[in-house]
Amino acid sequence: MSDIEPLRLSFEFFPPKTEKGREKLANVHKELAVCEPEFFSVTYGAGGSTRDNTIGSVNAIKTAGSQVAPHLSFGGDDEESMIALLNEYKDMGIDRLVALRGDMPSGMGGSYQMVYANQLVEFIRKHTGDHFHLEVAAYPEIHPEAQSFDSDVDFLKQKFDAGANSAITQYFYNPDAYFYFIESCMEAGIDKPIYPGIMPITNYQSLSRFSTNCGAEIPRWMRKRLEAFGDDTDSIKAFGLDIVSELCETLLENDAPGLHFYTMNNAQPTTTLIENLGLIPGKD
Ligand code: FAD
Repeated sequence: MSDIEPLRLSFEFFPPKTEKGREKLANVHKELAVCEPEFFSVTYGAGGSTRDNTIGSVNAIKTAGSQVAPHLSFGGDDEESMIALLNEYKDMGIDRLVALRGDMPSGMGGSYQMVYANQLVEFIRKHTGDHFHLEVAAYPEIHPEAQSFDSDVDFLKQKFDAGANSAITQYFYNPDAYFYFIESCMEAGIDKPIYPGIMPITNYQSLSRFSTNCGAEIPRWMRKRLEAFGDDTDSIKAFGLDIVSELCETLLENDAPGLHFYTMNNAQPTTTLIENLGLIPGKD
C-alpha cells in the first residue's frame, strides 16, 4: 500500500429496474457503507437504456449519505440532452463521473453514434470545466476491439490528456497483467492513478459468459478448478474467496492505489473480501 495516499475503496452497482430490486439495493448499500468506501458508482446501460434508473439509483445513494459517481456515455443522447444530464447531476451535488464510450446496444443499428471516451471527457470538460472528478476505463488485458496493447495504452493516455483524473480497470485474475500494464502506462507518460477492478467469484457460468464478452481472462487452471466444482456453489464461493483475497493482497502489497469492486448488487461477497483483507474500519 502506498505511504502517500490512503487506500481508496469504491463499489459499483447496476441500477435495478423494479421496486423489489431498489429495496434490495438500499439494503446492500447500507451493508457496504460500513466499509466506508470513497464512493459508490452506478452503471449506465448500453445506449442510455438505463438513463432514468441510473439517475434514480444515484439519487437514492446520495440521499442515503454516500458519495456516488454515475457512469455515463453518449449512447442515444445528442449534445443538448447530454449537457442537460450533466447539469442535473451538478444540481444533485454529484462531483464525480465515470466517462465511457459504452457499447452498441443490440437492435440500435446505424442510428447509434459511438463517441470515444476521450471525446466524451473533452466534451464534459468543455461544458462543466473542472467541476467533476472524471474516472475512465482501462484494460490491463486489452480491450476486445483494440488494435494492439500499445494502441490501447495510447488511447488511455488520450483520455488523461483530455482531462480524466483517474482510471478503473476491467477485472482480471492475473496480477502480472495489471503490473505490466501499469509499467507500460508509466512509460507512455501516464502519471495518474489506475485502480484495479475486482470481480468476486460466486457463479462460474455467468462469470465465464461475461468474461468472454468483455475480454477478461479466467486463467486455465482456475477454469479447470471451477468447472470441476459443477453445481457445488459453496465450493465455488470458497475457492473464489481464496483466489480473489490473494489477488487483492498481491495488488495492495505492490502499491495498487486502491480497489474497485464490481459488487453485482450483492453485499456479502465484497464485505467478506474486505474483511479478509483487514480493511473494515475499526477492526484490526
Ligand atoms: P474507449 O476508451 O473509447 O475505447 C474503446 C475502444 O476504442 C478501445 O479498443 C480503444 O483502444 C479504442 N479507441 C479509444 N479511443 C479511440 C479513438 N479516439 N480512436 C480510435 N479508437 C479508439 N459499459 C456500459 O455500457 N455501461 C457502464 O456503466 C460501463 N461501466 C464500465 C466501467 C468500467 C470500470 C469498465 C472497465 C468498463 C465499463 N463498461 C461499461 C464497459 C465499456 O463501456 C466497454 O468496455 C466499451 O466497449 C469501451 O468503453 P471505453 O470507455 O473504455 O471506450
